[in-house]
Amino acid sequence: MNETNAPIRILIHGASGRMGQALLRLAGERDDVVVVAAVQRSQPAQRVVDGVAHFAAAELAGAPAFDVAIDFSLPEGFGPMLALCEQRGAALVSGTTGLEPEQRAALDAAAQRIPVLWAANFSLGVAILSELVERAAAALPGWDCDIVESHHVHKKDAPSGTALALGASAEHGGAQPRYASLRAGDIVGEHMVQFAAPGERIELIHRATNRDIFARGALHAASRLAGRAPGHYRLRDLLS
Ligand code: NAD
Repeated sequence: MNETNAPIRILIHGASGRMGQALLRLAGERDDVVVVAAVQRSQPAQRVVDGVAHFAAAELAGAPAFDVAIDFSLPEGFGPMLALCEQRGAALVSGTTGLEPEQRAALDAAAQRIPVLWAANFSLGVAILSELVERAAAALPGWDCDIVESHHVHKKDAPSGTALALGASAEHGGAQPRYASLRAGDIVGEHMVQFAAPGERIELIHRATNRDIFARGALHAASRLAGRAPGHYRLRDLLS
């Protein structure tokens, strides 16, 4: 809810996708948020579904007023969504992976004017895994560090955004991670971080079996981000 106790108005960008569908369904179970618009790449067959107005990406500028956009689309869609949030003074929560360095720089620049949050992974388990990886890397100097990630065959970017974020944690602890990616079947997302030395090996593994965990995390973050001062927030800033 915002200060006036009205539900926070959400625009979902990437609404027809796997994450978008989970977001629409789970937002409907909460009373502190209301989805006012759903945007996807192409012209939707049905314009209004369960009271939510659906738009094609080309019609983004005509979207109704919203407090926060939740973006789980593709890198091509990210720029226009960020620009609209800046124009409207709305917050942006994004989980879109595979962003180019210029897109990350644009997000940093936008954070001077609006509240933004980008996270490679919205699950609590991965947040904890990330801390464990950094601690393990710091405690095991000289050990080999390898990150193996597995996802469904439709995932476009590799290594996954989560693997790269875990790699950054490992680097922070002093390790030099290498990456391997598998694309198979309908795997929601698995990340294994292995530390190995002659004669011994540690494996830290996170398995996501349902993408609702990401959607719940993103909705929670959106409800906490709307109305904040401009800035580039991290998921952990909003979890408590
Ligand atoms: P998907 O392919 O199922 O859906 C993509 C959606 O984006 C569709 O609605 C499509 O219409 C829309 N889209 C594509 N191009 C667009 C454009 N140019 N403009 C507007 N909309 C556009 O993908 P998905 O599995 O739902 O994943 C979406 C993104 O979220 C991917 O980048 C994926 O890696 C990422 N992801 C992140 C997390 C996380 O926790 N951060 C979790 C799961 C997925």
